Amino acid sequence: MREIGHFIGGKPSAGTSGKFGDVHNPAAGEVTARVALASGAEVSAAVASATAAWPAWAATPPLRRARVMFKLRDLLERDRKELSAIITEEHGKVLSDADGEVQRGMEVVEFACGIPHLLKGEYTEMVGTGIDAWSIRQPLGVVAGITPFNFPLMVPLWMLPVALACGNCFILKPSEKDPSVSLKLAALLKEAGLPDGVFTVIQGAREAVEAILAHPDIAAISFVGSTAIAETIYKGGTSFGKRVQALGGAKNHLVVMPDADLDDAVDALMGSAYGAAGERCMAVSVAVAVGSAGDALVSKLAPRVRALKIAPGVDPEAEMGPLITREHLAKVSGYIDLGVKEGASLVVDGRGLKLQGYENGFFIGGSLFDNVTTDMRIYKDEIFGPVLSVVRAPDVATATRMINAHEYGNGVALFTNDGATARDFTSQIQIGMVGINVPIPVPMSFHSFGGWKHSLFGDHHVYGMEGVRFYTKYKAVTQRWTGGARKGAEFVMPTLGR
Ligand code: NAD
Repeated sequence: MREIGHFIGGKPSAGTSGKFGDVHNPAAGEVTARVALASGAEVSAAVASATAAWPAWAATPPLRRARVMFKLRDLLERDRKELSAIITEEHGKVLSDADGEVQRGMEVVEFACGIPHLLKGEYTEMVGTGIDAWSIRQPLGVVAGITPFNFPLMVPLWMLPVALACGNCFILKPSEKDPSVSLKLAALLKEAGLPDGVFTVIQGAREAVEAILAHPDIAAISFVGSTAIAETIYKGGTSFGKRVQALGGAKNHLVVMPDADLDDAVDALMGSAYGAAGERCMAVSVAVAVGSAGDALVSKLAPRVRALKIAPGVDPEAEMGPLITREHLAKVSGYIDLGVKEGASLVVDGRGLKLQGYENGFFIGGSLFDNVTTDMRIYKDEIFGPVLSVVRAPDVATATRMINAHEYGNGVALFTNDGATARDFTSQIQIGMVGINVPIPVPMSFHSFGGWKHSLFGDHHVYGMEGVRFYTKYKAVTQRWTGGARKGAEFVMPTLGR
């Protein structure tokens, strides 16, 4: 059995805890490898190696740190097919979607290439006579990223290019469900010229995460995963005095106004609800049909959901692959059972799908519920599977109130042809990322990604300038060399501008 270990001090290292987790090929439903699960002692050894590497990396000029990012970008481009194949093998998503994941990750590396410019502070000549002042941003030290299974390359790349370019050492604790791509990334960073110890991969689960949370030499944690864990990480990390950004789960709505182009809205719903088998934090899982839009929307959606091409991710015809694990398949099926019990109308039932030749795979068909109401758990909970709920609303004000009352606040979309409706909605909606006639409004790398409410704990969104702020400490300097006669001791508050 292939063993997946750590990457510490610039080289691969086998686990020593004696604990392992199974890694599957979800399409075949078979165990293909086992991943080391780090103990607290292994986390400490990894942190020690990163801590030793940090002073030299922090003292490396940003321009040279940027050159490593330029090189990394080219290597990601060179190996994008191999990276996509590794993602599809362990995650199950279709290859073209995995390639999109590589692309979106690479774009954050492109953003980090501009770090000399991004770290420039502000300068004021003469805040007082002969006195100048400026601000600088300095790295935090050793920082950690704890990432989910659903984007095993892109989510680490939301974090580490910015963290490294800012002069930090980065420890990645990837998901134990699809860990292999993290080691390929480590090899590419080394090839790009990153000094040993500056990037570390520590495989593991809860024990490793708890060790990261408590370790005194880790200054900050970026977490992406489910809400319950995100909240625990935020509370735990901040109680140990760390800076924490913890991104959680989601329930994203797409509102269809009666004046929207219905075919556009249906295309948008198909891709955003069923792409990646719904295992995206920006997946749309609720369609809100406003006014007269409902019946037409459901009758156009139903045949499209039934016709979804479901196959292993390596099949070039596939639109949707399997779910990540057998347990997750049972959970998603269980939510469809629950929706029926709660009284929603099950228009398309994806349960019990078996693909010939892949009978053990973790496949499920697309499901569509109509007449879902806000008191149902299928409306309230994140299902994280290919299950779309249609909720009816009489007007956009009701839709807005409903969305604002939801626990989650990651993404939302509005499909309309009316600018004023779009403008008011954008202003009033309590959600971090808004799309107007755009179904999955994931911001580009030079903006920043993050939700509101229980979709994000902490003060900073990820990547873009929010990432630069998160991974640096702000310092303000006031300096006098010349000018002004010596005044002797002053016991009043300094008022340089007088
Ligand atoms: P998860 O919360 O199970 O795992 C995330 C990370 O936390 C993994 O590295 C895992 O090993 C670790 N972990 C799991 N249980 C733990 C525990 N008890 N204590 C400490 N650490 C633990 O999430 P997942 O199933 O890998 O990913 C899916 C979830 O991630 C969904 O809820 C999805 O919405 C969310 N997600 C959010 C975003 C976002 O940007 N908001 C992006 C991607 C995924």
